[in-house]
Amino acid sequence: MLSTTLTHIETLLQTRTNLADLCISNLINLLQNYRVNMWLYPGVIKRKLGISISDVYEVLRILQEEGYLESYYELYCSHCQKSNGIVIRYFSELPNTFECEICHAELPALENAVLIYKVIKE
Ligand SMILES: [Zn+2]
Repeated sequence: MLSTTLTHIETLLQTRTNLADLCISNLINLLQNYRVNMWLYPGVIKRKLGISISDVYEVLRILQEEGYLESYYELYCSHCQKSNGIVIRYFSELPNTFECEICHAELPALENAVLIYKVIKE
């Protein structure tokens, strides 16, 4: 992301979240490496920043509201713990069930979907 964007995001997070300044600057360093069309995984942010998953989703929600990110659902097999590489844009497009391509388990989509984010503005 561009430095002007990162400065804007830094200010936003300082005013709208309770995250420590160090956390915010670590996040800014991470976001520097992201370009349009790259996927941002909540788990990666959680691991790199050491914050709770609810804090991660709050940050991502703010960035989405500001037009930097778009959320998608990725189907993830809870049986074999693998992603099926299937990404769905809208909640209403989620099928009731899907078959895991790897272990062939038939799974309910809703319980096996994780939110991921695509960078749409740098
Ligand atoms: Zn599977």
